Amino acid sequence: MSAQRPIYLDYHATTPLDERVLDHMLPWLRESFGNPSSTHAYGTEAATAIRAAAQQVAELVGAVVRPGVHHPVIWTSGATESINLALKGFVLRHQPADRPFRLATMPVEHKAVLDSCRALEADGRVEMVWLKVNQDAQLDLADAAQRCAEGLDLIVVMAANNEVGTLYPIEALARMAQRQGIPVFCDASQAAGKVPLDFEGWGLTLLALTGHKLYGPKGTGALVVRRGTPLACQIHGGGHQLGLRSGTLNVPGIVGLGAACALRQTEMQADEGRIAALRDRFQGRLQAALPQLCVNGDLQQRLAGNLHVSLPGLPNDALLAHLQGRLALSTTSACSSSEASSHVLAAMQLSQERVRSALRLSLGRCTTEAEVDAASALLIGACQALQAKLAD
Ligand code: PLP
Repeated sequence: MSAQRPIYLDYHATTPLDERVLDHMLPWLRESFGNPSSTHAYGTEAATAIRAAAQQVAELVGAVVRPGVHHPVIWTSGATESINLALKGFVLRHQPADRPFRLATMPVEHKAVLDSCRALEADGRVEMVWLKVNQDAQLDLADAAQRCAEGLDLIVVMAANNEVGTLYPIEALARMAQRQGIPVFCDASQAAGKVPLDFEGWGLTLLALTGHKLYGPKGTGALVVRRGTPLACQIHGGGHQLGLRSGTLNVPGIVGLGAACALRQTEMQADEGRIAALRDRFQGRLQAALPQLCVNGDLQQRLAGNLHVSLPGLPNDALLAHLQGRLALSTTSACSSSEASSHVLAAMQLSQERVRSALRLSLGRCTTEAEVDAASALLIGACQALQAKLAD
């Protein structure tokens, strides 16, 4: 990265491609160009690489591949597509004949979940049940238990929030749902490769992930599917991937996604520990210099790289203007191209002051201590300058 580029603090938006992942991908962009559906040598070498990548994805999330029996990984273009396939595919195949399908989710989910649910609701296919969250965006498990007892057809809960970093009690929720025979779909886009996941052990039904949040290539993703879970196909064509998602597989991308998952599997624990220490250093520096600083989200259950803050009295657009060209960070999720203010912060019922001054800082495996120190000094300087200007 050139010296003039801003310090990157937006790892929740996307992560850089790991150079080692690129090395794994390159042969599949050059000489090994076969179509995995072809039955000749070019095809079979590609199909073998795809099977190895499925194993790597499955291992990262605790799913089990049973060769010849069950292949749990459906390749997609990213989490948005995985989520659409999971939600629409599941609802269309499990619609009760005599009543609406009851679908429960949290209002702090990613737009890919919320808008897919709304589309199903607008088509008259589902009745939405909104699970309660508190001011930290944390799920109210007692309320969820009550909703389960009332009867649900599917629960959809993310593993980690993409704005405030809150981690959700997926294991407890899935066990509770399992007792009532309710399937659970988990959007693990921000959590995969950062926190341990156990698809099989927790009894999850469906799990979505995406390559570009775990140092893999953009345009790659997967939907992990429990054995015996019928889904309605959303992309028709040549019947690829058990007829669930047609289209020639993106072999270099899939190999890259698999390699990224394998690297996360071995390096996640050490990396996340180091990232959490850097985040705490950042947070400590800001808190020491800016007494009005509020840290948003669940501070006990939070992604290591997440630091979501509000600076009441200092509008975030003015702060971003001060920091332009020096820090790359965001105010709301970059995953929505149209959202002006955050639906997550609105659902958390934070004050308007806190919402207007919210900043999402996110750190990753390439973040250095020097960057954290420089970024905190820049942010503190910008806050103090803006404060002085507003006091004039
Ligand atoms: N779900 C969450 C929690 C996300 O953070 C994102 C990120 O953008 C998505 C889904 C959508 O992922 P993708 O960009 O791969 O479509």
